[in-house]
Amino acid sequence: MTIDAPSCAETVLEAIQQVVGFSSSKDQPIALHEPDFRGTKAWTYVKDCLDTGWVSTAGQWVSRFEQQICSITGADHAVAVSNGTVALRLALHLVGVGRGDEVLLPPLSFVATANAVSHLGAVPHFVDIEPTTLGLCPVALVDRLNSVAERRQGCIVNKETGRRIAAVLPVHIFGHPAQVDELLKVADTWGLPLVEDAAEALASWRGDVHCGLFGSVGTLSFNGNKLITTGGGGALLTNNAALAQRARHLSTTAKQPHPWAFDHDAVGWNDRLPNLNAALGCAQLDDLVRRLDAKRALAERYVQAFADVEGVELLEEPLDCRSNHWLVSLRFTAEDPLDAQTERLHLLESAHAVGLLLRPVWSPLHQMPMYAASPAGSLATADIQAQRLLNLPSSPQLIKGFFT
Ligand SMILES: *Cc1c(COP(=O)(O)O)cnc(C)c1O
Repeated sequence: MTIDAPSCAETVLEAIQQVVGFSSSKDQPIALHEPDFRGTKAWTYVKDCLDTGWVSTAGQWVSRFEQQICSITGADHAVAVSNGTVALRLALHLVGVGRGDEVLLPPLSFVATANAVSHLGAVPHFVDIEPTTLGLCPVALVDRLNSVAERRQGCIVNKETGRRIAAVLPVHIFGHPAQVDELLKVADTWGLPLVEDAAEALASWRGDVHCGLFGSVGTLSFNGNKLITTGGGGALLTNNAALAQRARHLSTTAKQPHPWAFDHDAVGWNDRLPNLNAALGCAQLDDLVRRLDAKRALAERYVQAFADVEGVELLEEPLDCRSNHWLVSLRFTAEDPLDAQTERLHLLESAHAVGLLLRPVWSPLHQMPMYAASPAGSLATADIQAQRLLNLPSSPQLIKGFFT
């Protein structure tokens, strides 16, 4: 049975409005995830930067921010950098990805995942996702490696392109942990380093391991729309002391420590997070638990509101995982993908008309011009899911009374 698209949109819209404790309008829209510093010490911390003159890429707030990230995630080391894309580029460089290499990654992600690979002169190689977590599929990864990869002189080479395969790069989508324990086994079998894009997964756990800490190194983003924001920012997470030290060195122009001399021993980057931004991050991390609780409560309200709505389902927290519920996702379940797409379009139109700024999931990366010629296995699941998914307003402050 197909559901009438306009009436499906209306029912879904009612359910959303029932959950969101505020009414939106064209003039007062509600976005998917908005920064909010009320109830934090952001003013005090930022004022300290201005009063002391420590506004740039060193200072006590950067160190405190890194320590807070370590204590939240259980990582031995965190290195704060200027954004999540830079964090990924640095992480990939540190595990040896370079010009002409291929990196295995999912096509359903924010474009920055593939861009970070390209920034190193390497090539994204797309492998399909699985529909429960929307993350890289361990079975598809095994199949793809078995069909194209070959061991040659200590390297893994793509027989079809002749390029070295240098790393596996799973992404934890919308705060839901990918099946990274299984992915790690596959990567280990082939001797490939695993780098996790945990940009959306601060405070998300698979079992008792925080996202980003399964493989060699993981990365976070603190962009304005993420769970917590530093304005712009990112971090590397690792339990490898040598890797963390190298990350610090390369992100600060590879300058050898000395009171006055400018001696640099590698081509480094200027990637560190300014103290001002770190101060904002500290203020939000102080308040993280309360924000996570509010987001969990919001996600539960959505579950209740959608319990009887036909034609859609909410993406669930994966088994044995703790998601941060960064974005609550709705999946249109109509059998025919074209029906699902029509229903989604109707909902987007009617929601935007009343200032509810819902967004569909990203367009798959292999459909974008710069990645259309990238190597890829079958991407059937990614193609199907990309037509069905849409995200709902998920800011913690949407819970009524959050700031009182
Ligand atoms: C946000 C995001 C990034 C990039 O982070 P920026 O801080 O915006 O550079 C990378 N990957 C994913 C999955 C993201 O959501």
